[in-house]
Amino acid sequence: MSSPSPKSHVAVLGGGPCGLYAARVLSRAGLAVTVIDKGDRPGGLATSHKRGKNWYDLGCHMLHEFDEEIYKDMMSIMGEESIPVQLDAKIRWAGSFYRYPLQFQDMIKGIPFFTLVYYCLGLFAAQIRSALVPWTPKDAEEALIMLYGQPLYEFFFRDFTHRYWGIHPRELSATFITTKMPRLSAVDVIKRAMGKIGIKDRSVKAVDSALLEETLHYSRTGAEAMPRCISKAVQAAGGRVIQDAEVTAIVRDEATGKVTKIRYHHGGQDHELDCDECISTIPVPHLVQRSEPSPADEVMTAARQIRYKPIAIYGLLVKKEKCIDGLYIYYRDRAFHRVGEPKNAGLVVDPPDHSVLIVETTCEIGDEKWQGTDDAKDRIFTDLELENICRREDVVEVNLLHGETGYPIFALGFEPHLEQVKNWVNSVPNLQSVGRQGGFTYPNMHSAMRMGAKAAAVAMKRLGFD
Ligand SMILES: Cc1cc2nc3c(=O)[nH]c(=O)nc-3n(C[C@H](O)[C@H](O)[C@H](O)COP(=O)(O)OP(=O)(O)OC[C@H]3O[C@@H](n4cnc5c(N)ncnc54)[C@H](O)[C@@H]3O)c2cc1C
Repeated sequence: MSSPSPKSHVAVLGGGPCGLYAARVLSRAGLAVTVIDKGDRPGGLATSHKRGKNWYDLGCHMLHEFDEEIYKDMMSIMGEESIPVQLDAKIRWAGSFYRYPLQFQDMIKGIPFFTLVYYCLGLFAAQIRSALVPWTPKDAEEALIMLYGQPLYEFFFRDFTHRYWGIHPRELSATFITTKMPRLSAVDVIKRAMGKIGIKDRSVKAVDSALLEETLHYSRTGAEAMPRCISKAVQAAGGRVIQDAEVTAIVRDEATGKVTKIRYHHGGQDHELDCDECISTIPVPHLVQRSEPSPADEVMTAARQIRYKPIAIYGLLVKKEKCIDGLYIYYRDRAFHRVGEPKNAGLVVDPPDHSVLIVETTCEIGDEKWQGTDDAKDRIFTDLELENICRREDVVEVNLLHGETGYPIFALGFEPHLEQVKNWVNSVPNLQSVGRQGGFTYPNMHSAMRMGAKAAAVAMKRLGFD
């Protein structure tokens, strides 16, 4: 590798896993890099916040080992702060608990025989239909039916999807299913059996998101340890990480079209940072809207069509030593869609005979769940009692955390808008927009970090460091 010029400066917008890892790669290679992040601590969505004496995750976050290089690098950075933990997740379904990802043998044990036959026939019919008549699903409803069959769709996925997104599957894009839906191994077993007799899945495939037996990595202070350690490593290698700093403008040179300056607000003042390359991990519509000069009207209009689903996470301190059996449980028809108990993964809770619950909900900004009204809390407490997780009188503290851009919404017809916005980003010679928010996609942390590493490699190449 050639030695870097001290003049080359890379601005990284956003300090979640993607931006921090891009900075890790760049700073290790000796480039000058500055991360500008609006959060009060590093990590973006993948962090925890201290309230009182305890840490609360913004949704339970544990690192997978799937990307070996990144996993090993994280272990070297985190040392003893990382705690290995076996995945132990469940799905609450039809009055029983099923291991997550759903296993074929569990499904057979738990579901009444005739119900199971009905689901299998539905799946079989969907497989035959797509084998005989090539069929491109026009929306998420059709894609789900193609993937799981009509009965399973109606029983599980229709309402779950609707509750989760606040949008009927008919109004979601089929792309959502192909990039977001976790693979149900139970369904895979049936599909493999059908494949053996020549009935093959044609166009819709779910994605792998977790393995039944895998080791995840967590810490005694929750999700916050990993981004804190990466941020420290970046700074130790000479990079800068500025927290509480909101990017307000991405300024381009009119002649070259290149990004030359980033403006940001920090410590009550406006600041400017000169840069040669810019890696943005902030929400891509915000990147477009903050660009100076503004892109063409059609790009601005397309950016307005790109939306995210906010999350409201209720972190509860509960006067009960242990509340659930496992790390987290998914629910289909409750006021929450997942409840995690990070103490079971090694989180230290004060006092030790209490526990912390992370209750995950999706919402709209300003609605009852977002505000944490008494009604919203009441619905959550009622469902926690109905699920025998804890009694409302056991809840000692409620700490509400927010994520404005929790999940990209793959609304019906979003693809051309996203393409238009991405084409504009690609037309700027020294700009990349990556990660969950910047790429408008659904990576886990290791995949977001891999995107950061790739963006760093592109930036280095453009700057002449191969
Ligand atoms: C509820 C939930 C649970 C999850 N659990 C897991 C898990 O267990 N394991 C796993 O691997 N993944 C998990 N994920 C996925 C994980 O959160 C993402 O992969 C990861 O956060 C993506 O990192 P990112 O850097 O791309 O985006 P983000 O984490 O969203 O980071 C974007 C950053 O941009 C900053 N930003 C935005 N606008 C501005 C601005 N104008 N100026 C400056 N900064 C700005 C934000 O402050 C933020 O730090 C989970 C996600 C959710 C929602």
